[in-house]
This record gives sequence, structure tokens and C-alpha cells, in this order.
Amino acid sequence: MSARIIDGKAFAAGLREKVAHGVARLKEQHGITPGLAVVLVGEDPASRVYVRNKERMTQEVGMRSFAHRLPATTNEERLLGLIDELDCDPAVHGILVQLPLPAHIDAAKVIAAIDPAKDVDGFHPVNAGLLMTGGRGMVPCTPLGCLMLIQSVREDLSGARALVVGRSNIVGKPMALLLMGENATVTIAHSRTRDLAGEVSRADILVAAVGRPEMIRGEWIRPGAIVIDVGINRVSAPEKGEGGTRLVGDVEFASAQMRAGAITPVPGGVGPMTIAVLLRNTLVAAHRQAGLGDPDI
Ligand code: NDP
Repeated sequence: MSARIIDGKAFAAGLREKVAHGVARLKEQHGITPGLAVVLVGEDPASRVYVRNKERMTQEVGMRSFAHRLPATTNEERLLGLIDELDCDPAVHGILVQLPLPAHIDAAKVIAAIDPAKDVDGFHPVNAGLLMTGGRGMVPCTPLGCLMLIQSVREDLSGARALVVGRSNIVGKPMALLLMGENATVTIAHSRTRDLAGEVSRADILVAAVGRPEMIRGEWIRPGAIVIDVGINRVSAPEKGEGGTRLVGDVEFASAQMRAGAITPVPGGVGPMTIAVLLRNTLVAAHRQAGLGDPDI
């Protein structure tokens, strides 16, 4: 039997629509227009595309977008100065610094300079700590998007066995905490895990966030499992002509699809969720900064 395909693109479009309604309500009832500032340092081509998409989608949901493009030679002091200005600007409710930063800038120091209330990426140590201790902080976008997709097929995760492959601060660790918060029994695998195939075969829910093309074999998947593939890997695709490429995930999709109960494709799965959740987080941040309760999305 073939798995249900979890359509992240459609889910993200629905979420952006809900955000747009929330933005309209906030404007109408309280005269507040949420604002998102995105800071890009340097010329990394992938980062430039992400920033352009973020700007466009921010405007599409009715928010104000403030993009700051700085040259790669920008020094740390200048960047910290900009963060300080954005922290103090009441029109800015969310601040995102596009990573990676050039090597001469200490990314941890820059993230720590963002007001935690405006840290819509959820990377500030205060927000990481709040997630760890079950408090009300800002939650990293990609893992929160993954949780939404999982709960779109299975709302109650109590007692489910979840395996998160990858332990980065931006995906793996927060993902594991979110799943634990939903009462799943969580295992985290990483490059030193001894029997990855065995771990995968026991998981009712699998989240793969490694960055290695199709490293998780379909035959390892537990029949009926929910499979969330965060990986985005560009591989060569000779069938597309010379120099052709295509995107694949961390999971061997064709064979995993034959065993899983539900699975996200790459592209069109987790990818589109990240910006949609970023906009949701910005709306939440704007509510909190105005002393209002969280919007219901
Ligand atoms: P990192 O490189 O920071 O982390 C990768 C993790 O995978 C590490 O914890 C590493 O273990 C683990 N790992 C590496 N090799 C193996 C292995 N052989 N077996 C088990 N685990 C292994 O990556 P990120 O978390 O930042 O991103 C992961 C993937 O998700 C990437 O493909 C990235 O492009 C994608 N991504 C997609 C997003 C989106 O859809 N919007 C957003 C963010 C990321 P160890 O810690 O031991 O080194």
C-alpha cells in the first residue's frame, strides 16, 4: 500500500491564509501592523533567494517587511548596532538574521543580541531555554512546522515512539523537545548512533534532519509510520540533461512510500512550512508585544 502524501505546500498556503486573517484582525481591532525585519549579510545566493521569498510572503499576508542587506565586509559592531536599532523599533515585531553569517562574525553573539520577544526564529538561548523548560517562548520555525504536519495526520501523539535523526540546535533538538511536549517517547539519533536501521524500524514517527541524500532506506521504515523528511539535498540528475540536478530528501522516498502510513515529499513537504511558521511567529510576537493573548493559529 502506498503512503498518504503530506502536502506541505498546501498546508503552508492554508497557514499563511490564517496568518493573513490574523493580521487583518490585529490591524482592524488594535491598529497594529506586524513588522518583520530580515537581515542579510553578504551575497550567498541561496540566502538571497530565501530573503526575497520571505519579503514577498511577509507583504502578501499584510505585514510590513523591513529588509536590511549589508555587504559581506560588514563588521560585527555594525551588525550589532543594527540589531540594537531593530530591538528598539516599535514597528518591528520580529527580527530574523539570515544564517550563515560570514566567518568573521560571531553568529551566537548576534543571535544573543536579538530581543528574545522579537526572536521569531526561536534561536536565542532564552527561547531555547523556555522550550526546554516548557515555558512560553518563540519556537523554531522548521520543527514547529514539522509538528503541525505530523498532527495533521495524527493529532494525539501520546505514547507514540518518535525518532529524530539529527541533533542540530535549529532542527533536531527543538524537534525532539516538541515531540516530548506532546507526550511522545522520543529517541534522538546522530552520527554516532550504532544501529540507525534498528532505531528507524521501531519508530511510529520518524523525523529525518541530516542533510545526506536518501540515507534512510525505505526498507528500514516501520509499516504505517509517519515520515517527515526535513533534508534538502541537491543531487545530479543526468536524466535532466548535462549538468541537471534535482532535490531529494534524507529518506529514500520511492521505497519509503511503500511502507509508511504518511510521508512528506521533497520538495513540497517541510520546506514551504518554514516561512509560513515564521509569519505565524511574527503574528504571535506582535500580539504578545501589545499585551494581547496569542492568536488561535
Ligand atoms: P546539521 O548539519 O546542523 O545537522 C545534521 C545532523 O545530522 C547532525 O546532528 C549529525 O550528527 C547528523 N548526522 C550526520 N550524519 C549522520 C549519520 N550518518 N547518521 C545519523 N545522523 C547523522 O543540519 P541541520 O539540522 O541544519 O539540517 C539538516 C537538513 O535539513 C539539511 O539537509 C538542511 O538543508 C535541511 N533543512 C531544511 C529546512 C527547511 O526545510 N526549511 C530548514 C533547516 C534545515 P552529529 O551531531 O553527530 O554530527
